Parts: sequence; structure tokens; C-alpha cells
Amino acid sequence: MTKESLFEGALRQFNKAADLMKLDSGMREVLSTHKRELTIHFPVKMDDGSVRVFTGYRFQHNIARGPAKGGVRYHPNVNADEIKTLSFLMTWKCAVAGVPYGGAKGGVKVDPAKLSETELERLSRRYFSDISIIIGPAEDIPAPDVNTNGRIMSWFLDTYSMNAGHSTLGIVTGKPLELGGSLGRPEATGRGVSIIANEASKYFLGDELKGKTVAIQGFGNVGSYTALILDQEYGAKIVAISDITGGYYNPDGINAKEAFDYVTINKSLKGYNAQKITNEELLELDVDVLIPAALERAITVENADKIRAKVIVEAANGPTTPEADEILNSKGIKIVPDFLSNAGGVTVSYFEWVQGLYSYFWDLDDVRKALDKAMKNAFKDSVKMREEHKTDMRTASYMVAINKVATATRLRGIFP
Ligand code: NAD
Repeated sequence: MTKESLFEGALRQFNKAADLMKLDSGMREVLSTHKRELTIHFPVKMDDGSVRVFTGYRFQHNIARGPAKGGVRYHPNVNADEIKTLSFLMTWKCAVAGVPYGGAKGGVKVDPAKLSETELERLSRRYFSDISIIIGPAEDIPAPDVNTNGRIMSWFLDTYSMNAGHSTLGIVTGKPLELGGSLGRPEATGRGVSIIANEASKYFLGDELKGKTVAIQGFGNVGSYTALILDQEYGAKIVAISDITGGYYNPDGINAKEAFDYVTINKSLKGYNAQKITNEELLELDVDVLIPAALERAITVENADKIRAKVIVEAANGPTTPEADEILNSKGIKIVPDFLSNAGGVTVSYFEWVQGLYSYFWDLDDVRKALDKAMKNAFKDSVKMREEHKTDMRTASYMVAINKVATATRLRGIFP
């Protein structure tokens, strides 16, 4: 038997929800098919005068509810199946969060650590120029993802604006503040995860997160802000954190601010003062809430049986394989799916886009209040669907999202 691709796995979970809501076959085909799939091969002049050809992608899954939206990642493992799956998930993420976008994703197969700053700039500008045939502030709005950042978004903005003849703030999000970025964007995904973790604690464990034990895998943008906010604002007890250098455990609670500052200075948790454990051990800790916030496929058939957390809040994209998902469900572990838990990032990206279009910028407090409301509403909608259909949270969240996109598609009708 051939191994299921990432997209086939995601489609299987989509179909479970589509079956439950008795989605007709035409609509099912429309919603499980990508609108555009662009693959490009482009040359970049290297510093030593040689030329290398790179492969990049931009996929747009669905635009029934608004422009396409999704990050761009630079990674040696980037491939069409991954970009296809992530753009598919973006459609459901935007829909469940109530953000008027469809799903997109892009990427370049490259290890950016092996490029100089000038090579990285030429690669970024050429990639963006080549995908510009399907990009625009009303068509498709990229953002940072793995190994891309505000610096690269600035080059994207400039490349597009140079050709347009004027500065186009709405072309990308995740920009630096000085170039039309939004206050609260760096913390947005972690803050959204924290809001959802607290809602999940109230709903599944009967009480707020205060004093409850939490383990977080991954201490990058998402993991570190999640730890900081859960510790400082929700009073959770963070007993373990980790990054690529391993896990760090303290049964009395890790001081998240201290760990956050440590990583800001040292770039990783290596040498952090806590009991050293492995990333595998972290995932298997007996905690109230487990938050995988590193990369995809952290929980698989290999370790699903050993997971002891009561609730899993998926902060990374695709941290649980579909097979592991079934095992966890059968064990009664409650999972809040990635496209609901980590929707805070795209929600504040949407706020950034709106601010850019109007050239009117909000206070941090306004951003946080609007995010809080959006995340709580998204969680409430999924819970309602879960109870109505007596299903798991992933399927329920899919149903909420599919309902919104299917309704938009029906209202618009099939052109011509
Ligand atoms: P990041 O690169 O800032 O951080 C990744 C972290 O994971 C680092 O601490 C790294 O050391 C750690 N890590 C990598 N491999 C690991 C391993 N095998 N075991 C343990 N830790 C490991 O990335 P990020 O922006 O925090 O994104 C994390 C995840 O969240 C990704 O799946 C990303 O797609 C998703 N996500 C990010 C955002 C966002 O706004 N940044 C939004 C939505 C979803």
C-alpha cells in the first residue's frame, strides 16, 4: 500500500466532516479542489557570479469568501504536497475565525541559512516577482511563515510597489511596524493559542487554566509567546518547554518570562536552568494541556498511545497525523485543531491589512480586544457544532468552516 500524502490525510478529515453534514458531491468537489496551483523555477545570481535555479510555489485553494491569504515558507523540504495541504487548511482557518479571506500558501525549496543576505534578497525579490501574476492586495496577500520574516516581507512589498508605481501596504502582512505593520502581530498567534487553551480548559476540564499544568513543544514565535501569556496572564503552570535543543522540565513551574528573555539573548534554550528531558518525554508528560508548537507530525502512531495529556491544543500546523488523531480520540483525549487554535496569526494579519488599506492604525489594546472576541467566537461556534453532531472538535471546526464557504459559494452561484 502506498503511503498517504499529506493532502490525502487532510482530505480524509475534511470528508469526515462533509459526510456528517451530508455535503452534496458537486459542492464537495468544488471545496476539495484548488483554484490555482503555480509552480515556478527561477534563476538567482549568487555572490560568486554563478547562477542557481530554485523551485517555488504559490497555491490558492478557494476565494469564495474574499482574497486568498497565506504565508510563504523557505525550507529545503518544501514541496507541492505540503503547500497544497497548507493552503487548503488556510481556507478553513480563515472561515472558522470569521476572517473574510480564502486559503493560499507559498514556499521556496531552499535552506536560507546557506544564503548570504544579498542572495536571500535577490531570491526573495525574484520569487515574488514571478508569483506576482496571481498576487495583489485584492487577490492574494502573502505573510511570513517558517524561515521568513518582516525583513523579507519588506522586500516583497518593495518589489511589488516598484512595479505598481506606488507603495502598496495591503500587498503583504507581517510587515515591520515602521512599514505599516500592526501592533500585536508578533504575539498574535501565541495570544490566540492562549485564549483558546483557556476556553478549552473551561469547557473540557471545567475550570480556567489558572494553576493547571501545561507542556509546550517548540519555543519559537508561537511557543514562546504562548508560554509567556499563559504564565503571566492566565496563571497556568508551565511545567515543560522545548526547542530543537531538547526539553526543559520543572514540576514547580518554569518562569516563562525568564525563558523568553533567555532565548532572546541566547537564540535557543540550550543551557537553560531546568531538568533536561527529551522532546519525546515532553510530549508524554502527564499534564492537563499539551501544546505542540514546533513543526508538523510531532504526534504520530509511534507515540500517540503514550500521550497522557487531557487536552491537546494544536499550535503548530499539522502536529498530529490523521492516524494519531484517531488513536487520541479513542483514548478520550480532547484535541483543539490547528486551524482553530492558531488562527490568531491570520486574524491580526487581517487587522493589519485593513489598517494598511485605510492608512489608519490601531492601538495595541484595540487589536487585543478584537482578537479576543474573534477567537472566543470561533471556539464557541465549534463547541456548538460539536454538541449538535456529537463529534470531535476537529470535525466540528471543519463543519463550521465548510458551512461558511459552501454558503458563500451557493450565494454567488456557479459562473457563468
Ligand atoms: P519558529 O521557527 O519561530 O519556531 C519553531 C520552534 O520549534 C523553535 O523553537 C525550534 O527550535 C523548535 N523545533 C524545531 N524542530 C523541533 C523538534 N523536532 N522538536 C522540538 N522543537 C523543535 O516557528 P513558529 O513561527 O513559532 O511556528 C511554529 C509552528 O506554528 C509552525 O508549524 C507554523 O507553521 C505554525 N504557525 C505559525 C504562525 C505564526 O504566526 N508564526 C501562525 C500559524 C501557525
